[in-house]
Amino acid sequence: MKIAEIDINKSILTKINSTELTERNIELYIKRDDLIHPEISGNKWRKLKYNIDLCVTNKQDGIITFGGAYSNHLVATAAACATIKMKSIGIVRGDELNSNSNETLKKCTGYDMELVFVSREIYKRRYEKSYHEYLHSIYPNCHLVEEGGANYYGMIGCQEIVKELALDFDAIFVAQGTTTTSCGLAMGLNNEQKLYVVPALKGFDSHSEMKQLFRRSGFEADFIDEMLMKTVVLDDFHFGGYGKYNSELLEFIQDVYSTHQLKLDPIYTGKAFFAMMEQIKNGKLDNSTIVFIHTGGLQGAQSVMNKSKFNFWKEN
Ligand SMILES: *Cc1c(COP(=O)(O)O)cnc(C)c1O
Repeated sequence: MKIAEIDINKSILTKINSTELTERNIELYIKRDDLIHPEISGNKWRKLKYNIDLCVTNKQDGIITFGGAYSNHLVATAAACATIKMKSIGIVRGDELNSNSNETLKKCTGYDMELVFVSREIYKRRYEKSYHEYLHSIYPNCHLVEEGGANYYGMIGCQEIVKELALDFDAIFVAQGTTTTSCGLAMGLNNEQKLYVVPALKGFDSHSEMKQLFRRSGFEADFIDEMLMKTVVLDDFHFGGYGKYNSELLEFIQDVYSTHQLKLDPIYTGKAFFAMMEQIKNGKLDNSTIVFIHTGGLQGAQSVMNKSKFNFWKEN
């Protein structure tokens, strides 16, 4: 299957204007990583970029990675590998599934990803060295990328987002899943700048998860503490948990689209944008310059839109 080129230069900076922002002396910019590619959505490409570079440099045959039945990361990996004619192997949680179980998995297969359906028991071993060795023995000369692209190379790819911002800003906002994107962003900030993270999962301990990822990637305790000091966690905007949403959130997304022509998804970016607007409303960000990182995710949002009574992306 042929797909259009991935283009980082498409990730432009757009400005949001409103009377409230002007009154509060806030400048709000959106970093449009959602424009990089329709399928290899925003941060998923950022996280894959250096993993793929490594494969090419080391002349490896492909990538082995992990994901659940609805993983955008799996689709992004499959699509990215297909563009450069590299093998991709997806270890999928759930041995009751098959490659026709849903649109996500069908897409993966469409991009020639080899899907391996494993039991939840086996999937739990996804960080174990012995399991990795086993996978390498079956798929020799393949590079293993952690679930959600959560590794050192993924973080470094996300750090570049900050480097591209030719702008003096005070705060950056981002939605959080595995924390890879937020860890990379934290690495790009100076000590005066704040990173606001909005986990999409309920009961998620952002600081502890970030710490684990930094540790697993070989960073020292002092450095990790410095990164966490810059990070403000807004963990009250999950709307019930991962993949959950209510009409307030959908209405908000519709409103943002009709006012600013900006599309957000109800899983990640909609929640993060909602959290940011709450901070603004409460006067927590007066007199500052803010950048919201649009991490993409619009592909999956379409099905939610179709099922809801809202038609939030309808032009009006
Ligand atoms: C996957 C995803 C995230 C989560 O990013 P992490 O690096 O896993 O924290 C955020 N936003 C969107 C749109 C995503 O698809």
